[in-house]
Amino acid sequence: MTIDLTNCDREPIHIPGSIQSHGFLIAIDRSGEITYHSENIKSFLPDLPPNLLGQNIASIQPLIGKNEPPDFILQLITFGKTNGFEQTNPFNTDIRGNAFHLIISESGDNYLLEFEPARSDNSTDVQRTIGRSISEMLADKNLQNLLNNSAAQVRNVIGYDRVMVYRFADDGHGEVISESKNDDLESWLGLHYPASDIPKQARELYKKNLTRIIVDVNELPSAILTSADNTAASLDLTNSQLRAVSPIHIQYLKNMGVASSFSISLLYKQELWGLIACHNYTPRFIDFRSRESAKLIGQILSSALEFRQDEENQMVTERYKSAVDQLSRLMLKDDSIEFALTANNVTLLDATDASGAVLMLEGNLIKLGQTPNDEQLKGLIGWVKANIIDSLFYTTKLPGVYPPANEFKDVASGVMVYTLSRELDEYVIWFKPEQLKTIKWAGNPDKPVEVDANGNRTLSPRNSFEEWSETVSATSVPWSNEEVKSVIRLRSELAYALNQKAGAIRLLNERLKQAYEELDTFSYTISHDLKNPLTAVKSYAQILLRDKTLTPQATRALERINAGADKMNNMIAEVLDYSRIGRSDLVFSEIDAKSMIEDHVRELATVYEVAPSVVTIKNAPPITGDPVMISQVFANVISNAIKYSKKSEKQKVVIDATENEREIIYAITDNGLGIDIKHLPRIFELFNRMDNVGDIEGTGVGLAIVKRIVEKHRGKIWADSELGEGSTFYIAFNKKAND
Ligand code: ADP
Repeated sequence: MTIDLTNCDREPIHIPGSIQSHGFLIAIDRSGEITYHSENIKSFLPDLPPNLLGQNIASIQPLIGKNEPPDFILQLITFGKTNGFEQTNPFNTDIRGNAFHLIISESGDNYLLEFEPARSDNSTDVQRTIGRSISEMLADKNLQNLLNNSAAQVRNVIGYDRVMVYRFADDGHGEVISESKNDDLESWLGLHYPASDIPKQARELYKKNLTRIIVDVNELPSAILTSADNTAASLDLTNSQLRAVSPIHIQYLKNMGVASSFSISLLYKQELWGLIACHNYTPRFIDFRSRESAKLIGQILSSALEFRQDEENQMVTERYKSAVDQLSRLMLKDDSIEFALTANNVTLLDATDASGAVLMLEGNLIKLGQTPNDEQLKGLIGWVKANIIDSLFYTTKLPGVYPPANEFKDVASGVMVYTLSRELDEYVIWFKPEQLKTIKWAGNPDKPVEVDANGNRTLSPRNSFEEWSETVSATSVPWSNEEVKSVIRLRSELAYALNQKAGAIRLLNERLKQAYEELDTFSYTISHDLKNPLTAVKSYAQILLRDKTLTPQATRALERINAGADKMNNMIAEVLDYSRIGRSDLVFSEIDAKSMIEDHVRELATVYEVAPSVVTIKNAPPITGDPVMISQVFANVISNAIKYSKKSEKQKVVIDATENEREIIYAITDNGLGIDIKHLPRIFELFNRMDNVGDIEGTGVGLAIVKRIVEKHRGKIWADSELGEGSTFYIAFNKKAND
């Protein structure tokens, strides 16, 4: 087990059951009955009746406020409850001829009445000096001077040996950022104190009660007494002025040689920003009024800090915002988002104070400023992909979570990663370099545990405050809230731009589809309308051919007209087929491909006058598709195979099919003309015929039809061929119709 000072976090310091004995305490309930009192009350009021508990406060009022009306305490409470106790505190009373301050506060169902001497150990008239102090303090706009002035003025007002402004970091540890001290003391400026020095619950109390005085570390506390059916520790002293000090804290102060301490809380947006911590090396008491005046200095310093911090944040926010605004305009204007984010005066880098950035988008990687190299980036992305779930991730200690980053910690100890798409490997990453920092601790912060002569480990505060240096490495300066907010803004702008672009592509697609449809209608109409005049041409040619008086020349011309008309008819029929594919819906069914192919082979052998035996049908499994269209596919491809191999010696056409998990692939192989490999892709285009076809009849439409049908079935078609050797056409059909 490790022992550390977090155990202090559990010490219930707000209910110590005792008070500091320079004053005394009485607690009364709502009816005025005394429920608790400090044991030392007798030394201040020797004439008190013996059994105080359970008595009404009215009975002892004359002893604590000689010249006051008999029920003055209840009157004060009534007034304080409606107007706030800061209006009534402190109330000047007279106890046995000595001036006392009565300070009233609430504690659950009780009221705490605390009596403190109304005199300070310092000679200055605080209330008179305070006005001047404050105006001197605010005279300088520079932050460091403001802090220095505040420390000096607090020391001026309350006269402690050492006054420090102590600032808390995010991790709870503190640093002395300003100091005003007696000349003979060594400086603690710049020293750091571990978070455990001021435990969590003490911080909470600093937020509620803005000043805290410990008058004398050697003074014995006075116990709180209460009735037998109650416990002293049940009285909450959060709002108390006299609350006794935790023994651990007393020991801590003694180890430092401090006899008395006083602190003023500095708040920023209701959170504890720091403390004005005052130490005296001899016991020192300052009265409530002086403490309130010092508190005022703290409050003014708090609001000055808040104002300055807000102003600074505002400036940074504006700077980032203007960068993101420009980037978002560029993204919408430019076709390329990458270009918009990386190629102008303002880039991704300006959205934060990073010194390097990387954009990975659409398969491209663009680096800006100082970044790890490609290999290192690859490793980092792999790690991010496997380990980071959040779309925004940032750290100032990358090598701590990803050890390979030690290799490039000089450029990337800090990273901020915004994942655009894990699947597409799209990321934006910002980098901050290593910042080596030497921290001067007041004593070794890791050694809160003491080992005594017997080897026992005991928890005790450090007793060495000698400077102890530590170098912090593999760490970058922090990512500020403003930077995180800026990246989040850029993220939504980028998402919007990407969406817009995707929208634009969809729109183009839509237009293309429309154009296709129009083209289909157009070719359909044209082909259809061409048919009638063409039929007329052909009929008139035939009528004329019957004329026996025609010269042989005229007969030949008419025969050509007739053949031309036939050819044109063919073409029109095919173009009509082609455009019909686009217009008609598929009607799927299971097709007996084997018998379909056999029918075609028989018919085509007759048409091309070849023996059916030149075609070998091997494996021909059933397929799913639109039977009419698939029939057209086989007819075209088989007819080409027969047609373009007719002149080969030992003409041979083989039809075979193989299967894999997802598809059935038909291969139609011939030993015919072959196709020049350069022109292979073009054979599927409309009207494209190769040079080597010679007088072999054709229109150049067949394969375009085939391709269109196959693609409509979400299948694939491709060819393999060698000039003069033969060709193989492959057609892959999906096993499931909708795959
Ligand atoms: P065609 O009506 O000319 O046969 P296709 O669209 O069916 O039109 O084919 C386009 C072109 O592809 C053909 O003109 C021919 O040059 C080439 N081609 C198609 N199949 C074959 C094949 N089996 N062998 C050689 N060339 C072929």
